[in-house]
Amino acid sequence: MVVQPKVRGFICTTAHPVGCEAAVKQQIDYVKNQGKLEGAKKVLVIGASMGYGLASRISAAFGCGAATLGVIFDKPASGNKTATSGWYNTKAFEKFAAAEGLYAKTVNGDAYSDEIKKEVIDIIKSHLGKVDMVVYSLAAPRRTVGDVVYKSVLKTTGAAYTNKTIDLRNNAISEVTIEPATAEEIEATVKVMGGEDWEAWIEALKSADALEDNAMTVAYSYIGPKITHPMYFEGSIGEAKKDLLASSRKITEKGVKAYISVNKALVTQSSAAIPIVPLYISILYKVMKAKGNHEGCIEQMRRLFGKLYGGEINLDDEGRIRMDDWEMQPEIQSEVQKAWDELNQDNFKQLIDLDGYWKDFYALFGFGIDGVDYDADVDVNV
Ligand code: NAD
Repeated sequence: MVVQPKVRGFICTTAHPVGCEAAVKQQIDYVKNQGKLEGAKKVLVIGASMGYGLASRISAAFGCGAATLGVIFDKPASGNKTATSGWYNTKAFEKFAAAEGLYAKTVNGDAYSDEIKKEVIDIIKSHLGKVDMVVYSLAAPRRTVGDVVYKSVLKTTGAAYTNKTIDLRNNAISEVTIEPATAEEIEATVKVMGGEDWEAWIEALKSADALEDNAMTVAYSYIGPKITHPMYFEGSIGEAKKDLLASSRKITEKGVKAYISVNKALVTQSSAAIPIVPLYISILYKVMKAKGNHEGCIEQMRRLFGKLYGGEINLDDEGRIRMDDWEMQPEIQSEVQKAWDELNQDNFKQLIDLDGYWKDFYALFGFGIDGVDYDADVDVNV
């Protein structure tokens, strides 16, 4: 069938199989062009089908030559519905890995569940023996534990917060007020996006003797500028990220070196859903592209792997790796702030990289990729 994008607000309900494959290929080519890294040999990536997790998997496989086992939560095509882009990305990744003789296996299911942990560990034990790196890159709206479903929210933890935002349905600048989260909502957000499940994964792998002695693990966080602090860094999701940081210390104390990498703000399926952040990202893109230091997920993750394997791992005062170093440069942030203050409905198109935002958004679903014939009939059952 001919696949067209169907965008509803911050989500696209279709994905293009050929476009997703081409986008994965671009990321692989980028990593190969950066040269080989010595290090990771057998890598488990939890949340491997999109965004930072996919870019980590590509960096491990095509940078380090590592065998990779991915955990994803995606849907294959059914009837006239396309698969999710994460499904097509994963199929493409597996195809390109196989062509180079790289082991690549994927488990599709709920990474929070005990069943999936067991399935993954069984595969590690029978195919790989042990892994030497675990990337934890889940971004999920909910987590089920027994009969309880915890839902994460993007709210403040103090007073309500009002600021500018972009309405992605009509590209209009408006104001949004983000309400405070209740204590239960904060607790639920920490359950979903905090470190409890990361710790559970490492514990499960350790007790099954599925971790090499020198194994390391990394999870991803975000800090961002003051304008987003009330609803991000100091908001309910920020509480979860603090918990993730605390977990990194607990995991390290128990003998597995655990890192938090604070990554750059980028368009991904998850970040598109956060109020205020897409407008900030669109200004950031404009400023960083003009300065020549803009990066996407793959550039960020290849640079991270370069630090972890062979390069220098500089940690900040809290012990975090700062991949947001270029984003947070004072000259970048002061230009972003200036644009933010000036921006209104009449002038915003000059101040933000709206085209860049939408280009990246469509690319998440395999649309707008160079060289892909979008009028062609494609088989969606990959
Ligand atoms: P994403 O939406 O692109 O990817 C999330 C991945 O998690 C997908 O592969 C998805 O299939 C998987 N997933 C979700 N629920 C799952 C489940 N129950 N079981 C198994 N897999 C599941 O998200 P992203 O933006 O790459 O975020 C990854 C991490 O990076 C998050 O911790 C996020 O906070 C962090 N981060 C993101 C940004 C950003 O701007 N996007 C910046 C800094 C840090």
